[in-house]
Amino acid sequence: MSRALKEREVLSRIEHLNRGSKTKRILRESLKYESIGHLYYGAFEEPIVYESANGTIVRDVDGREYLDLISGWSTQNAGNCHPRIVKAIREQAGKLITNAEMPSESRTKLAKRLTQLSPGGFAKKVQFTTTGGEAVEFACKLARSCTGRSNVLAFSGAFHGLTHHNLGLTADTRFRLWDPTAELPYRLPYAYCYRCPFDKTYPSCKMWCSDDYIRSLFEGVQYGLRDPGHDLTTVAAIIVEPMQSHAGFIIPPDGFLRSLRKICDDFGILLIVDEVQTGWGRTGKLWGVDHSGVAPDMMTIAKSTAGGIPFSATIVKADLLDEIGPSFHGTTFGGTPLACTTALAFIDVLQKERLVERSARTGAYFLKRLLELQDKHELIGLVQGKGLYIGMELVKNRMTHEPAPKETKATQTELLRNGVLVQRGGYFDNRLNFIPPLVITERQIDKAVEALDKSIPPSGSP
Ligand code: PMP
Repeated sequence: MSRALKEREVLSRIEHLNRGSKTKRILRESLKYESIGHLYYGAFEEPIVYESANGTIVRDVDGREYLDLISGWSTQNAGNCHPRIVKAIREQAGKLITNAEMPSESRTKLAKRLTQLSPGGFAKKVQFTTTGGEAVEFACKLARSCTGRSNVLAFSGAFHGLTHHNLGLTADTRFRLWDPTAELPYRLPYAYCYRCPFDKTYPSCKMWCSDDYIRSLFEGVQYGLRDPGHDLTTVAAIIVEPMQSHAGFIIPPDGFLRSLRKICDDFGILLIVDEVQTGWGRTGKLWGVDHSGVAPDMMTIAKSTAGGIPFSATIVKADLLDEIGPSFHGTTFGGTPLACTTALAFIDVLQKERLVERSARTGAYFLKRLLELQDKHELIGLVQGKGLYIGMELVKNRMTHEPAPKETKATQTELLRNGVLVQRGGYFDNRLNFIPPLVITERQIDKAVEALDKSIPPSGSP
């Protein structure tokens, strides 16, 4: 589709929107002055223009309210504009915002706290960066530097950011035009059991995808990933999301990560776990990886950590830093006093308000309500969740699992019209995701489920 045609299509969507005049004016102007490459016209048929947000409620510029089930892409685990986090931001902003990447008390305090809170009973250190994608880039750069090997392998369905390097790790080819620098030597299969690439069924498969298939890639010479004769591998690291977010909030069996950990240990490969989306209580435990009890060699975090102030970090097994020296990596906004102070306030809120436990409890309630809805709607093929990390897959046929992307988009748009903000995703664009702030109440969940009940089209209708 040509650029002009795409703009015309988006403009026609804006003109047909049943929204206030301020929303429409801003959307028209955004189309005129902003890159069409921004995410919102792809992620939403009818994007909203936020004016303010509080707890679990978002208000648009025309005063309409929405129940927030996307948490600003999981950046608002403590609730939008949590008063204690806002207070910390205000106080720190009045004192010192950035400091030319110099040390600060809050930065070191935060590093210490992150090493204590992250999995693994070994010594760890922290590298501060600014975005989730940059943390991933740092982890890959360090893995390559300290192993002297070039390849980092990622999974089908993976999302690790959209910077040029990370396009190779991120599986969704819609994010790139063909680019030879963005290809992996090998893409590993993720344990997406509803659509097992090997046509097996869990648990009778006994984790065949990883224990047998992925392991076999390193045992022989035919895939070029290892030469057993010389005990050499070209692979520096495997990077994995403990649960796959952009792919539609897919939850693998707990044994999957344990199996990967063992493969990495057996073949001398580093395991990088990307907790950018699954961290900070989202899945009902502090980290997504806590469900399997695996300790990664490196762990990337971002999103909610600093309550919405841009921030990311890589928590690294300390001895991996032995090979590097000062100034190996830098980034203007990495670990600013503003971000670090806010992150400390966020962690306090998370712990004092017991939000991780709350996520497990209210997530179980949300899951139960959605499973009840599955009995009523033929289109709902699967509902899967841990804590407030929930994915729902819409299918045209429950036997064949034929994806229903049009119906998924229609449901998302209708939900928005009914005042509920959800995101969609999935390998086939047929999954709805429910990731509210962890402070959501059962009454609000009931409201969301009622709206969903009204918004899902009957099976068979386009
Ligand atoms: N990793 C994961 C698992 C993510 O979900 C995301 C963002 N959605 C990223 C990395 C990239 O983060 P950012 O957009 O901050 O670069």
